[in-house]
Amino acid sequence: MVTRRPNVVIVISFMLACAIAAIAVWVLAQMRDDALRRAQDSVFNVTLLVERDVSRNLELYDLSLRAVIQGLQQPGVMALPPAIRQMVLFDGSASAKDMGSMLVLDAAGNAIYDSQSQIPRKINGADRDYFIAQRNSPNVGLYISRPFMPRSSGGGVSIALSRRLSNPDGSFVGVVVGTLRLTYFSRLFAGMNLGNSGSMALMLSDGTMLMRRPYDPKVIGINLTGTPNFERFTQADSGDFFGTAAIDGVERWYAFQHIEGFPLLVDVAVSTRDIYANWRHRAWIIGSLIAALDVAIIALALLFSEQLKRRLEVEEALRVLARTDGLTGLNNRRTFEEYAEREWLVTKRTGRPLSMLLIDVDNFKGFNDLYGHSAGDDALMAVARCIEGNVRRPGDVSARYGGEEFAVLLPDTNEIGAALIAERMRAAVEAMQMRHVASAHHVLTISVGIASTAIHRFTNYRAFVNAADTALYEAKDAGRNRILCYPVPARADTPGLVAQPTR
Ligand code: GH3
Ligand code: MG
Ligand code: MG
Repeated sequence: MVTRRPNVVIVISFMLACAIAAIAVWVLAQMRDDALRRAQDSVFNVTLLVERDVSRNLELYDLSLRAVIQGLQQPGVMALPPAIRQMVLFDGSASAKDMGSMLVLDAAGNAIYDSQSQIPRKINGADRDYFIAQRNSPNVGLYISRPFMPRSSGGGVSIALSRRLSNPDGSFVGVVVGTLRLTYFSRLFAGMNLGNSGSMALMLSDGTMLMRRPYDPKVIGINLTGTPNFERFTQADSGDFFGTAAIDGVERWYAFQHIEGFPLLVDVAVSTRDIYANWRHRAWIIGSLIAALDVAIIALALLFSEQLKRRLEVEEALRVLARTDGLTGLNNRRTFEEYAEREWLVTKRTGRPLSMLLIDVDNFKGFNDLYGHSAGDDALMAVARCIEGNVRRPGDVSARYGGEEFAVLLPDTNEIGAALIAERMRAAVEAMQMRHVASAHHVLTISVGIASTAIHRFTNYRAFVNAADTALYEAKDAGRNRILCYPVPARADTPGLVAQPTR
């Protein structure tokens, strides 16, 4: 039974604790994966949102630039009065929030049409990249400039979108340019929820930073070419990965997307710390609770097994006590009877011999009367040692049978072996030379009656015991301090199995 084995209790509860810990680890790992997946989803969604918003607005702005070019190509438009012509050339989009001014520059870079005034302001853009790129190549299409501070009023760092104006033969006439304040992007970025240490950035495809959140004016315009993250941005149209920002050294989960149709890319990232912040908090709580639970289980198991061990020890002690005679430490009569009845059955089945000695201290009443009850007890203990000392084989059993009576069971022993052992016991008691003046032998002696199945067929166990008792009685009758075996010959002086005192 499991509950009777202290070590099994400990092993089972240890396994239980391990199983609980394993389940907790598995659940926490799942929760961690979920946290990452949620972060990935939200980063992906924000990327998409920004990409859509930027591309739609730039598309609209580009349409406005194209409209200006088309307008310039219409002879009728040029013939209109300046006020109306301005309204026709520059539609309302240029006046939308964050849009700067839209200008038409001639081949020398001077403004010739201005969305903000009928008489164009004195602006020259010949040194700007949006002008130079268009002048140098007829195939640029829509050009998006690096950030710059506009010279005209209504500033704020801006980028410009430009398109080339060409003659029918392809020669350079000038550019149409519109500016867009970077506040448009910073406002767009500010609306997204990215946790405490999230970041997002809009870059030109050549690595120039246009806007970044968290905002830092120092990083606007820097070039990120060569940084590990930017290298990965250039490897695909879109993607995601764990990376560490060159700008602030924070590890984040990145998603990036090139904005279709424009030389732009956007990246959105949440910091690893933010991704796992909630999870870490819960992992601490769950981990501590599970650890406490495991400790409690193991502690209870140890306590329980300790109690169980103690109980088993007590039970064992009680069992020994219940089987033992308190004075001599030999088996008690009940134990002897259990053994003897079992051996009796074995003997009956196997036909192997079984012998029994019944031992009685001679004139012990007189000993008690002479030397006192306590001395009597000591004498009984001494006699018990003499008996025990001569019972050496594993199957042999000695016991205190009654007051000053002892019994010895000798399996696999015939009457001759039994008499030999009995004689050793008798001699041992006599050799103690314990004074007993009331005895005819002057010292303490014992008498022994022997019954053996080797020389007599007994009908049952009782008859066997009675035979030993009869032999003992005969030994007493024959003068004590002697050994007699059942069946007792007609007279004790008959030789044979009758062992005489060796004196
Ligand atoms: P016999 O030689 O015929 O056996 O004579 P006996 O005096 O030994 O016989 P009896 O059976 O009359 O006396 C047994 C005595 O043993 C009686 C009792 O006082 C004593 N006795 C029995 N048990 C104990 C015990 O545990 N301690 C002591 N000290 N004496 C005991
Ligand atoms: Mg007696
Ligand atoms: Mg006696």
